[in-house]
Amino acid sequence: MVAMAMSMAVAANAATKSSAHGYPITPVPFTSVKVLDNSFWGQRLETSRRVTIPLAFSRCETEGRYKNFERATHPSKDYDIEKLMPFSFDDTDPYKTIEGASYILQTYPDKKLKAYIDSVLDIIGAAQEPDGYLYTARTQNPWHPHPWSGDKRWVAEEDLSHELYNLGHMVEGAVAHWQATGSRKFLDIAIRYADCVVREVGPKAGQACVVPGHQIAEMALCKLYLATGNRKYLDEARFFLDYRGKTSIKQEYSQSHIPVVEQSEAVGHAVRAAYMYAGMADVAALTGDSAYIKAIDRIWDNIVSKKIYITGGIGATSNGEAFGPNYYLPNMSAYCETCAAIGNVYVNYRLFLLHGESKYFDVLERTLYNGLISGVSMDGGGFFYPNPLESMGQHQRQAWFGCACCPSNICRFLPSLPGYVYAVNGRNVYVNLFLANHSELNVAGRKVALSQETQYPWNGDIAIRVGKNTAGRFAMKIRIPGWVKGQPLPSDLYSYTDGKRLGYTLTVNGKAVDPATTPDGYCTIDRQWKNGDVVRVHFDMEVRTVRANNKVEADRGQVSIERGPIVYCAEWKDNDFNVMNSLINQAPSFSLSTMSYDPFIADSLKTRLSLYKAQKLTTLSTQAQTLAFDAQGQLTTKAVSMNLIPYFAWAHRGRGNMKVWIAQDVKAARPATQASLASEATIASSSPSPTLMSIADGLVPADEADRSMPYFHWWPKQGGTQWITYTFKERKEVKSATVYWFDDQPWGGCKVPQSWKVQYKDVQNQWQDVAADGPYPVRKGQACTISFAPVTTAAVRLMVGQPEKYSCGLFEWIVK
Ligand SMILES: [Zn+2]
Repeated sequence: MVAMAMSMAVAANAATKSSAHGYPITPVPFTSVKVLDNSFWGQRLETSRRVTIPLAFSRCETEGRYKNFERATHPSKDYDIEKLMPFSFDDTDPYKTIEGASYILQTYPDKKLKAYIDSVLDIIGAAQEPDGYLYTARTQNPWHPHPWSGDKRWVAEEDLSHELYNLGHMVEGAVAHWQATGSRKFLDIAIRYADCVVREVGPKAGQACVVPGHQIAEMALCKLYLATGNRKYLDEARFFLDYRGKTSIKQEYSQSHIPVVEQSEAVGHAVRAAYMYAGMADVAALTGDSAYIKAIDRIWDNIVSKKIYITGGIGATSNGEAFGPNYYLPNMSAYCETCAAIGNVYVNYRLFLLHGESKYFDVLERTLYNGLISGVSMDGGGFFYPNPLESMGQHQRQAWFGCACCPSNICRFLPSLPGYVYAVNGRNVYVNLFLANHSELNVAGRKVALSQETQYPWNGDIAIRVGKNTAGRFAMKIRIPGWVKGQPLPSDLYSYTDGKRLGYTLTVNGKAVDPATTPDGYCTIDRQWKNGDVVRVHFDMEVRTVRANNKVEADRGQVSIERGPIVYCAEWKDNDFNVMNSLINQAPSFSLSTMSYDPFIADSLKTRLSLYKAQKLTTLSTQAQTLAFDAQGQLTTKAVSMNLIPYFAWAHRGRGNMKVWIAQDVKAARPATQASLASEATIASSSPSPTLMSIADGLVPADEADRSMPYFHWWPKQGGTQWITYTFKERKEVKSATVYWFDDQPWGGCKVPQSWKVQYKDVQNQWQDVAADGPYPVRKGQACTISFAPVTTAAVRLMVGQPEKYSCGLFEWIVK
């Protein structure tokens, strides 16, 4: 089973023999591709194996994930499920971690790990109800299940129960475990639950006619169909797609606003969306139904031309963790969930398998090297949920999250990465990613050994060696990346300011070959290959500046900087000036240096890891200015040398400013302003938080929908009175206060306050209310100003009455 030619990402090839349909292009499974240890990805795979996956398992223990399964074996009315289980999808954390660990097992056999997974599966299996239903949010206490679960099976599925989301991750984990170990232990559990779903959920009389509230079961059931050959799973996946938009809940949030084949724009929750598009591709490939493909092609076009960040991140807004309107790509508030980046890889990979064009890998590669791996620290022990492109230090990697979707998704994605390097279609061999590896491919039923030597992404030289070849003649199709061909992405959303196509060359055994590409984007070398043949690929790698389409308001007048597939950022730690106030030269030149990984690896993890020591980051520096207004209001500039690091390496060395898009036009620059009463004060609050400083940063929202600047809130503290104080260095006269309230209704937990007032410290150090000129105004997203009889005081205090069951927050508190 171990060497079974069924990729974890898409098991298309297993079907091609037994059915008329399947993806035209066959994946080369990750088990056939051994990434070399001392390489960029070798280091990432080591962190995954030695840090992330063990950490995820230990979190499953300490966060009570296994306890949910244990309690489900003896249900009780006494269990307060909401307290015991924060989210109705908590069971998926173990499923996803087992999936990642299974991939690891295939490359690094480990008896202890295998036995540990077995013991977890004992706990999981025992929680299954006799008819196969496995959903501990209900089974633990069917009388009072989790508040999201609904009072009966499936009734809340399209809302928040996640019963089918749990099924999806269970199946994905189970198939991976079966492939890795040959054991049917997890697979049989998943089949029992899938059979229960097929019996109870569907369009027939007596069935619950519901579709998944959170997609993933669509692609998982395709995998289960391929693993078992049982067509009913494919039919169920198809039902989930065909009935979307035709059942009770119709909303963009879950892409159920209209039937999927009628959709043309990426909308709603970005992870749900990406998983659905991936599922549509799978069902289309397996059934030959082209209506799905036409819809995903349209949606893909919408994403790459209007809704994707330069980092490959998708999902612009925290408002529903969703795609925003076309060209809405704010940087500091960019959501770009790590899971959505993973979903974006899934979608683009499947579209490549369908269409065979290199442009899908251009999107995939950009996402992979930037907005995806930024989601996990270089030592594997810290995670980002959102991956913003600008920060004032309010974003920090965390060791885990209450909602652990992203870390556990990283667990299952990274070990599967080697499966994305090659693909085969008849006698065509695709070389899609450049990374050091040894591999064995199946070409027209014969074995072909291939290996790559390269320092990519740090330089553009790749040697591809042919080893033992029993297939004779085949066409090696080498992807010429979009960044070489002068296109950051296959659309007009971004463009290189130099307008250049970079040079590149290919040789076979030292002899130049025609580098021209075919319309599919590949350079094809079709010949009789012998053991020892070497293809050398060279891509010129230059530092380039990128401009966004002018319709992207957030990036106007600014450039992002990249080299090869890597997007760079300016971070506080490498610069002795505030990067927020900087302006890059009109025609910047760049110099390259390297930096060791050492400062990016937590001391506590250094003993567990060894491969980082041989790795180096390529860093950049360039000439820039910092801008500031002096006391007379005159703009002053200072020449500085700006240092840049790869975006994925940000937020490893403490809190501070970071920027991907750097101002190049004066009008886009943000000169430092003169200090204000607030910015010079010591700020304290009833809830200490690193974001507290943002209320005195001079940045205010443009309107009530604008959430692009940093803010502070008291969430999850609800109701009651909260406070903030400004303590001045010396007594100051104060006579007015202006607050910009933060309100993220209808999605979030913050509302404008029920009431608020300003107090000052009198000479006896007692807080007194100011004598306000009128009622305190409460308006969303606008200046709420109150004037009062002047006071001379050492401190002022903002008293905030929070609405019942809601929290309050603010962008800015200005005092004058
Ligand atoms: Zn996530």
